[in-house]
Amino acid sequence: MIERADRLKRLPPYLFQEIDRLKAGLMAKGVDVINLGVGDPDLPTPKHIIEELNRAAHDPANHQYPSYSGMNEFKGSVARWYRRRFGVDLDERGEVLTLIGSKEGIAHLPLAFINPGDLALVPSPAYPVYQISTMFAGGESYLMPLSRENRFLPDLDAIPADVARRAKLIFINYPNNPTGATAERDFYLKVIDFAKEYGLMVCHDAAYTEMAFDGYRPMSFLELPGAKDVGIEFHSLSKTYNMTGWRLGSAAGNAGMINALGQIKSNIDSGAFNAVQFAGIAALEGDQSCVAEMQRIYQDRRDALLNGLRKIGLHAATPKATFYVWCPIPAKYKSQEFTTLLLREAGIVTTPGSGFGEPGEGYVRLALTVSRERIEEAVDRMAKIAF
Ligand SMILES: *Cc1c(COP(=O)(O)O)cnc(C)c1O
Repeated sequence: MIERADRLKRLPPYLFQEIDRLKAGLMAKGVDVINLGVGDPDLPTPKHIIEELNRAAHDPANHQYPSYSGMNEFKGSVARWYRRRFGVDLDERGEVLTLIGSKEGIAHLPLAFINPGDLALVPSPAYPVYQISTMFAGGESYLMPLSRENRFLPDLDAIPADVARRAKLIFINYPNNPTGATAERDFYLKVIDFAKEYGLMVCHDAAYTEMAFDGYRPMSFLELPGAKDVGIEFHSLSKTYNMTGWRLGSAAGNAGMINALGQIKSNIDSGAFNAVQFAGIAALEGDQSCVAEMQRIYQDRRDALLNGLRKIGLHAATPKATFYVWCPIPAKYKSQEFTTLLLREAGIVTTPGSGFGEPGEGYVRLALTVSRERIEEAVDRMAKIAF
């Protein structure tokens, strides 16, 4: 008999099921669906990165098992990139770990630190992996609501002291998916103080630091004094270099946490393909004009979408970073209803805010992952719906 483990039975209901079903139905009928739903870059990986993969794939030395903790050359590249980009010093031998995409590292982290019954502090709305991986490890999540009133930052002062004392981990993510919010020095300093006061470990998901606009340069959590005492930061090549399919990321920061995460990984996976790590070196050390070009394209799409939405009475804040627009919807709709309406009436896929957690109710997330022309087409179609 096939009987799933309790951890699978405890997964939250898959809120996108209805949308997936509708979308498949419309596409089967030949409807031209515009997908603003998924956070996956539509542009190709830059050529010099593909060429390096090609070269490295031909070298038989790369056909064997990679080193568990990652190739020293790639980890060195990550450390040099942190130095150049953020002025952060890292020892690549103990403070950097190669990941098979940052999702892999985030999902494995609770296995290293959470015992059954332990607590993690998790933002809501959020990338679902923080809460689910905590549950998989037998832990529980205390949800920290992100609200517009608090600029979509968790209000640490609102967390009861006994909860903070019980918690072992706090997850944060800026620039933020799904809200597009950003965080600055004062917030990160507060997080570090809070972590020190209550003996917490910090996990900062920094996948979007390079996807920023209008000249804005997001910080690394590791830039702040004391950050390395309490936490690690996850980074990814996925969004920066259009490499979501390649599966390459890194964790960096506190050596004890890096070591423990590495210990979990060495018992589960056998590391990232060396040829992919060589390609990652080419990405991090090569010409960065591809990053500026990516920023220019998303900024242009962002402005087209925000202008179009404004014309039809939807007023979303202008995100300084990420390729998401977090759009408040008319009060008479639930976010799932609104998403269904957009799909049914206009063939546009968006993500209901409530799918990222209850405090996301009242919003939809639109991803800037189609061309400007398609965005304009989407807004034209939305203008024809009376909502
Ligand atoms: C896209 C994304 C990642 C990156 O995932 P990879 O596994 O590195 O591709 C991590 N966190 C968030 C919040 C994301 O949206």
